Amino acid sequence: MPHLKEQQVAIAAVTAAARLCQQIRQGSFQAFAKADQSPVTLADLGSQAIVCQTLSAAFADDSIVAEEDAQMLRQPSNRGILEQITERVRQTVPQTTPDLLTEWIDRGKGQTAARYWTLDPIDGTKGFIRGDQYAIALALIEYGQVQLGVLACPALPFQEHIGTLFVAVSGQGTTMMTFNGTSQPVQVSQRGGSDSVRLIESVESAHSDRPRQEEIARKLGLSCTPMRMDSQAKYGAVAKGDADLYLRIPLPQDSSRRENIWDHAAGAIIVEEAGGRVTDLDGQPLKFSCGAKLAQNRGIVASNGLIHEQVLGAIAACDQV
Ligand code: AMP
Ligand code: MG
Repeated sequence: MPHLKEQQVAIAAVTAAARLCQQIRQGSFQAFAKADQSPVTLADLGSQAIVCQTLSAAFADDSIVAEEDAQMLRQPSNRGILEQITERVRQTVPQTTPDLLTEWIDRGKGQTAARYWTLDPIDGTKGFIRGDQYAIALALIEYGQVQLGVLACPALPFQEHIGTLFVAVSGQGTTMMTFNGTSQPVQVSQRGGSDSVRLIESVESAHSDRPRQEEIARKLGLSCTPMRMDSQAKYGAVAKGDADLYLRIPLPQDSSRRENIWDHAAGAIIVEEAGGRVTDLDGQPLKFSCGAKLAQNRGIVASNGLIHEQVLGAIAACDQV
């Protein structure tokens, strides 16, 4: 089966990282501001160390493009934080030392290549801090096509368990599992009627243009109140049919901002392999071969497929106003 080893290694890496994140969240933890003022925690850095170490041990030549780096941890004034993370990660990877930890985190500073991995060690850090949804998102890209996506949503319920792992392999569908291994295939919804279609969007109002999204929902005649969720867990919600449409329209002041590849690669294949469709606002496929940003795409539309053309039409009509 193609990509079987990649799938097994990615599941092991992301599951171990998800356990670390949940353990850290159960205690008290600090958040630090990065240069762009976005937050980062011990869990983001520990998660990246675990995933990069696991991938590097199995696929030494593969490039990894990940969100975080170890620059902050290398500053002598942050030695205490470095030691805290080392101690945490050592519970999963016994040979961890401060030097190895920073080396593993910086394995994520790779470039996009013919074959590369992209990782968001905690997508939705604001949700993680608030006690809401967050995700660990890992994808493998070959020749610009996402081949594998593994998305851990440690706070998303599945049956009587808390914690859901979505796994999608190109041409093989999407599976949803608990962290203990119970699994089932997932399919997007078949909802098409405007009175039943459910829109999902970010919790953070600064991350997308809610008034515009509301306008599009109105144009489509949607009557349900939008669901709100942090992180790529939104793609999971569309893949399992809890929501039918995920809109991410940039705010006017962010119109030149482009999305990070690690914020969408895993989520996109998880929706597509569950039978849905993912494009930008202009109906173009997401292009994962232009570096760390989706430089050629504007915004995101992820849907159950059935309603996709109608949604693109409503977006185009609103754009012309
Ligand atoms: P979500 O919870 O879906 O809003 O996604 C969290 C992601 O939003 C983070 O990984 C950030 O990369 C991204 N983000 C941060 N600022 C913005 C912004 N101004 N517009 C769009 N996305 C953003
Ligand atoms: Mg993110």
